[in-house]
Amino acid sequence: MSIRVNPELRNQLIQYGIGDWNACYHCGTCTAMCPLSEEGFLFPRKKIRLMQMGLEAQLESSVEPWLCYYCGDCTKTCPRDANPGELMMSLRRYLTSRYDWTGLSKKFYTSETWEIGFILFFAVMVVLSFLVILPSFGFRFTTELTAQGGVKVNSFAPIHIVEKFDWTMAIIVASLLISNILRMYYKIIWKSGQEKVSLFVHIREFWLLIFNFAVQPKFSKCDDKNYWISHWFLMSGYTIMFIVIVVYLPWFQTEKILPIYNLQRLLGYYATFGLLFGLLVAIIGRARREDVKFRFSHVSDWLFLFMLTSTVVTGILIHIFRINGMAYATYIAYIAHMAVLVPMILIEVPFSKWSHLAYRPFAVYFTQLKKYAIPR
Ligand code: SF4
Ligand code: SF4
Repeated sequence: MSIRVNPELRNQLIQYGIGDWNACYHCGTCTAMCPLSEEGFLFPRKKIRLMQMGLEAQLESSVEPWLCYYCGDCTKTCPRDANPGELMMSLRRYLTSRYDWTGLSKKFYTSETWEIGFILFFAVMVVLSFLVILPSFGFRFTTELTAQGGVKVNSFAPIHIVEKFDWTMAIIVASLLISNILRMYYKIIWKSGQEKVSLFVHIREFWLLIFNFAVQPKFSKCDDKNYWISHWFLMSGYTIMFIVIVVYLPWFQTEKILPIYNLQRLLGYYATFGLLFGLLVAIIGRARREDVKFRFSHVSDWLFLFMLTSTVVTGILIHIFRINGMAYATYIAYIAHMAVLVPMILIEVPFSKWSHLAYRPFAVYFTQLKKYAIPR
């Protein structure tokens, strides 16, 4: 790997929220305190050193920022108030933009105008689709109710069209995310050219990826177990909701009013609870700013919380209005729900905050691969 210094790196990193990173005088307390730092993958001090020296390529090939779960222990003990926990957070934003080949991630993280502009653009497109495009194909609002007294939601949001749209959106987002993960793999494993990992090791260690996505065991090593639990509820609620609205939409978006113990309703209630619980912890924490990990909020943090909360609240309203036969209220809530859900998935999953859901378990997997790497 070439050793090139980028004198502009400092200015570039500041755009991602990094504050006074030059305050660090490398005492190493943060690394000693970090419950997740391990032999061969030491952080955060080493990463701060790379930032200060402008070693861009070494920083880009670092897996460590993703191994940090922002418990805040390092920030609490730093004698120079250099806030190493937030430095790692900012580094994750920077790395997300470096993996992304479209350049949009950088735009969204460094310009509120770009991010809010894209959100509004997709939101307007969704509203126009429901108010102009679908009615032109004969799909209309109706106040006629089902035999059970529920709203005929499929007459205005035809399930076969919404399902096709969902799949198209999922394929686009997955393609973007996978291509970015391949770039992450290239930078972390492949680019150095000094070591190689056998295909057998790739296959043998793959279970770690799934396990870390589902359980986040590294996160559980932080002292604050409550935050791990609330984050796990948020993640599991989101994953369940994503699967049911993409893969099982005809089963989920039904006009029938099912019994409360039906699996469809139970999954919906669990996902809603998980999301609300995780969101409340994050919103209250960021508003109070008492805990170090919530003391600094980037614009993207609040935008993400706003969009996810709006999605959950409008989803709850759709359900309440639909089963109580409130037709127009259901349609308005449905349009509002889609107007915030679609931009959130298109922007947050491949380009912004939500991409860490994929990068973190892959980082653990790549770390394991590096442990078994042999010199070329
Ligand atoms: S960030 Fe703080 S604790 Fe860590 S090495 Fe620098 S001065 Fe020491
Ligand atoms: S925030 Fe926690 S996990 Fe992250 S570097 Fe600091 S001590 Fe380690």
